Amino acid sequence: MTATTTPLLGQMMDVPLLVSSLIAHAARHHGNAQIVSRRIEGDVHRYTYRECEVRSKQLAQALIALGVEPGERIGTLAWNGYRHLEAYFGVTGFGAVCHTINPRLFPEQIAWIVNHADDRYILFDITFAALVDALAPQCPQVRGWIALCDESHRPAMRTPVLCYETLLAAQNGEFDWPLLDERSASNLCYTSGTTGNPKGALYTHRSAVLHAYGASLPDAMGLSARDAMLPVVPMFHVNAWGLPHAGPLNGTKLVLPGKDLDGKSLYELMEAEGVTCSAGVPTVWLGLLAYMREAGVKFSTLKRTVIGGSACPPAMLRTYEDDYGVQVIHAWGMTEMSPLGTLAKLNWEQAQRPPEAQRALLEKQGRVIFGVDMKIVGDDGRELPWDGVAFGDLYVRGPWIIDRYFRQESGTPLVDGWFPTGDVATIDPDGFLHITDRSKDVIKSGGEWISSIELENIAVAHPAIAEAACIACAHPRWTERPLIVAVKKPGAQVTREELLAFFEGKVVKWWLPDDAVFVDELPHTATGKLQKLKLREQFRHHVLPSALEVGDKCPLEPLDSDKGAASGATANTKSAATRG
Ligand code: ADP
Repeated sequence: MTATTTPLLGQMMDVPLLVSSLIAHAARHHGNAQIVSRRIEGDVHRYTYRECEVRSKQLAQALIALGVEPGERIGTLAWNGYRHLEAYFGVTGFGAVCHTINPRLFPEQIAWIVNHADDRYILFDITFAALVDALAPQCPQVRGWIALCDESHRPAMRTPVLCYETLLAAQNGEFDWPLLDERSASNLCYTSGTTGNPKGALYTHRSAVLHAYGASLPDAMGLSARDAMLPVVPMFHVNAWGLPHAGPLNGTKLVLPGKDLDGKSLYELMEAEGVTCSAGVPTVWLGLLAYMREAGVKFSTLKRTVIGGSACPPAMLRTYEDDYGVQVIHAWGMTEMSPLGTLAKLNWEQAQRPPEAQRALLEKQGRVIFGVDMKIVGDDGRELPWDGVAFGDLYVRGPWIIDRYFRQESGTPLVDGWFPTGDVATIDPDGFLHITDRSKDVIKSGGEWISSIELENIAVAHPAIAEAACIACAHPRWTERPLIVAVKKPGAQVTREELLAFFEGKVVKWWLPDDAVFVDELPHTATGKLQKLKLREQFRHHVLPSALEVGDKCPLEPLDSDKGAASGATANTKSAATRG
């Protein structure tokens, strides 16, 4: 029998981890570090962390004066800018919850989210005046809409609105951030709904601060007080990957690009402000690289960029590194994970390997940050080996990963304490994660799995291809076979046959796509991800030439565009040879 012993409790201060402490620290210790914003008004605004804290306090006072209680939600519909940043601290600092809303969603979806979150007030950039007019009648419980501008820029609207600058001017900024329980809610983000109805991830002060520490580590985003960070990733998308928190934690200069995210606007702002690092989804980098190629310009200060949200195509990684000398840090995460899970950076030993082996690692999604634990499991729920070959459903756990969804208190998404990500992945002996698919997007050919991401990466490496999606198409013998849907670069020429030939020798024979079609553009979600559900719907009746060959022997059934609830991975341990 083992005796139960009482552990000796430590004797350190129990100081809560609070979001307000991030801006208080920046104001006190990096008071002169700059926050530069390209404003909706058209000019560039610049001020310091010290001024940001004072105005955040004025906002807290203004919201309290409007009767907002701790725990209530305040929505935002805004681009990356200093007023939005003030909401990150002014709203959360007194215990209310900053609910960032993606304005690119359909108005009905936004109204659904606002009503589900039960937002009290909504702060909005004046670009969204028409959207607010459309939303207001559908959201009767919202007490007021606050335009992020001064009186001279107040838009003409049907909805009665308050003016942000007028509200702030009525307050003196003399306010002490209260000591809150670190487990109280700070921020709320809804998943973009690529997989059903939007679901709310309700972060805590504690999870936000821990995530900011984790994100700042040298082998994560590695922020410092000598950096100038331009987050292209919107502040309405998973808190801009935590950068509005990690920036003040480190005293990093923040450069907030506003609404213009085209290549030229981004490039000019980066050059003007001496930006050293940036972060965003692959789609925005496509635009930036296209502009730079056309204009024949190079970066003079940008050293590294974090790319995530969707798989970073290896061709993009090579272009950044070889043509522009910019280090790419491939990252993976999700709304439910605050969002950071893994980042691809080499350790000392890996950096001694041949260049091609190094690159193969950097193309993966990388290793976990301390704080996140992961595993891959097969259909039977058993953990799979980290051999870089077996792929299965990816599970995670950690202090900045959700326990349950907002207002879905009854059901937990967890399985034995682990969160099922809905992604399918391999993990190699280096501990590097490689996402092969979303479980619903994986192509099941004759019981074996084909990675759609891998085939997309090859397609976009073709010099004439701008963007490509790979989806499952019905096949009478194999059930599903890969179809490439591609967009050509402007003015570029390539035939279907040439594109298909480009895959030969790059993957095993049975992974070769059965067909390729060209379209003018691909559908994207509000967060810039390929909308494969829509594409599968569009190509539901597409007949593969290979299907016709066997079609008279087996009838052809169109696939369900959501592919049933295809989840549950099977370890892909059979060799290619089994398919001949
Ligand atoms: P949603 O599920 O609503 O699109 P998120 O924006 O949180 O929400 O997206 C998370 C998903 O995006 C991940 O589960 C994964 O499928 C995909 N993803 C994120 N980063 C990467 C990456 N680097 N490579 C491949 N897929 C990624």
